Amino acid sequence: MTPPAAPLRRKLIAGGCTLLLLPLVPGLARAATIVAVRTWPADEYTRVTLEMDTELKAEHFTLDNPHRLVVDIEGVQLSTAINDLVSKIRPNDPYISAVRVGQNRPNVVRLVFDLKQDVAPQVFTLKPIGEYKYRLVLDLYPKIAQDPLMALLKDTENDPLAGILESLAQGGPSEAPIPSVEGQKLPPTARKPPEGAPPPPPRTAPGLRPGRPILVALDPGHGGEDPGAIGKRGTREKDIVLQIALRLKKLIDAQPGMRAYLTRDRDYFVPLNVRVQKARRVQADLFISIHADAWIKPTARGSSVWALSQHGATSSAARWLAKKENDADLIGGVNLGAHNAQVAKVLLDLSTGAQINDSIRVGTQVLKEIGKINKLHKNRIERAGFAVLKAPDIPSILIETAFISNPQEEQLLRTPAHQQRIAHAVLSGIQDYFSAHPALARRG
Ligand SMILES: [Zn+2]
Repeated sequence: MTPPAAPLRRKLIAGGCTLLLLPLVPGLARAATIVAVRTWPADEYTRVTLEMDTELKAEHFTLDNPHRLVVDIEGVQLSTAINDLVSKIRPNDPYISAVRVGQNRPNVVRLVFDLKQDVAPQVFTLKPIGEYKYRLVLDLYPKIAQDPLMALLKDTENDPLAGILESLAQGGPSEAPIPSVEGQKLPPTARKPPEGAPPPPPRTAPGLRPGRPILVALDPGHGGEDPGAIGKRGTREKDIVLQIALRLKKLIDAQPGMRAYLTRDRDYFVPLNVRVQKARRVQADLFISIHADAWIKPTARGSSVWALSQHGATSSAARWLAKKENDADLIGGVNLGAHNAQVAKVLLDLSTGAQINDSIRVGTQVLKEIGKINKLHKNRIERAGFAVLKAPDIPSILIETAFISNPQEEQLLRTPAHQQRIAHAVLSGIQDYFSAHPALARRG
C-alpha cells in the first residue's frame, strides 16, 4: 500500500511553485491594465504618466534625424486607455509633436514619441501612493538645462529694471547651481561653481545689493500629478495656490523696486528641492510658498504662516502638516537620483539660525496682514521641518492661506475677490517687513 502522505506532499510543492512564479512573471498571468494616461507639458519638461494596476518593465532609447524617443512596455496589450495618449499630446507641447502606439511584439507595446527637440529622458516607475496605482513616468527634459535666471530675464523684457537684473546675470555672484537632471548639459553662459563648494554664506539682511530690485520668489505648492489637498466640492489646492501666486506676482511687479519670480507658472510638478534651487539661482531676497490646508474635521479653519524648524515641530499637528507637504515629492513623483541629490543634501545641512530669524520676522508681518482678512488658525508663527523652506541664504515662509477642507473657506478660496484679498495682504506684509528693515535705507 502506498502511504497517503506522498501525493499530498507533491501537490503542496506544486502549489508552492505556482505561488513563487506568478509575481515574477506577471505578464504571463494576464496583461496589465492601463488605468489612465496623463500628460503635463511645460517649458521646463514634459511629463507623460501611464498609470496601471501592476508594476511594469519599460525600456527606452532615443533616435536622431528626426529626434524620437522609443519606449517599450512589457506585459501590456493595446487598449483604449493607451490609445488615448495619441489625442492627449497638445499641439503646444514644447517637446512632443506626436506619439505613435503599436503592439511591437506579443506582450510588448511600443510608444514612439516624435520630438520637437533633442531630449534627456528620465524613465522611472513609482509604487502606489495616495490615490494612485503603479505609475510609469516619462519625463522629457531639454538636452541643455534651463537657467531660471534666463527665464527671469525673459519675463522682465521691456522692464526698466531688466538691465539691473541682466548685469546680475552676467557678472553676478550667483554660485547657485542650475537645477538639472542626469543627461542634461549646462547652458554655455552658466558659471559652474567649483566642485563640492558649499553655498555662499547667508545674506543676513535683505536688499543689500544697491540698485537691484527686491526679488520675491513665489512658490505655488504642488502641481501636475500632485493635486495637493482637495475640498468637498472638488477644489484642488494646486489650482487655487497658482491663482493666488499669479495675482500676487502681478501686484509685486507693479511695485517700484520689486519683482516676483514664480517657481512654477502652470500646472506641472516641481520637486521640492528644485523649487529651492530655482530661488537660489535667481538670488531671491525672499521665498514664499503658498498652500491651502486640510484637516479631517471640516470645522478646522483659519490661515497660518510657517517657518523652518531644524529641531522638531512646534506641535504634533505641525509635524503632521510638514510631513503631508513634504510628501508632495512622493505623490508628484521624483526620479530619485536623477536630480542632483548632492546639492539637495548640502542645502539640508546648511539651514541657519539667521535665515530662520529673518523668516520669523517676515512671517510675523504677513500673518498680521492676513489676520485682517481671515480668521487665523494660530496667532503666531509656527515651525516645522518643511523641505521647501530650507534655502540656507533666503528668508523663507510657507503660508497656509485657509482650510480647503472647510466648506466655507473652500468657497472663499474659489472666489477671485478673496484670492485677490489674500494676495494684497501678503504684499502688505512683505512691504512692512522690508520697510521696517534698516537695510532699505541704504538702497536709496
Ligand atoms: Zn500644500
